[in-house]
Amino acid sequence: MNCIFCDIIMKKRPAKILYEDDSVLAFEDINPQAPVHVLVIPKKHIPTSLDIEEEDLPLIGYLCRIAGNIAREKGIAERGFRLVMNCNREAGQTVFHLHLHVLGGRGMHWPPG
Ligand code: 5GP
Ligand code: ZN
Repeated sequence: MNCIFCDIIMKKRPAKILYEDDSVLAFEDINPQAPVHVLVIPKKHIPTSLDIEEEDLPLIGYLCRIAGNIAREKGIAERGFRLVMNCNREAGQTVFHLHLHVLGGRGMHWPPG
């Protein structure tokens, strides 16, 4: 399977890893859109949020929890931050391995672009 995030998980592709355990990985986005821009991904290859299965539900909750820990460590938890999960083309998904963007360190606009 050709997946850049699976390659990062397997250490075939470099990344600035902030957190890793048996089920998730968090690393700096290569093209940051905010002072803090971290991606939190499951080690399981799930292409999009539409592919989340019953057995993945605890894993998805865990991703959110790790994202919160990243926000705390980056010092943006209290100020506020945004979690984004793009799904498919019109939302701007470009990597088809499910990921949560943790964005912060600047004011966020609403509605999003
Ligand atoms: P999407 O647009 O699919 O929601 O987000 C994909 C994200 O992955 C983008 O923000 C993009 O900058 C990031 N990205 C793409 N390729 C790489 C890579 O090789 N390394 C890292 N660290 N981030 C990547
Ligand atoms: Zn993958």
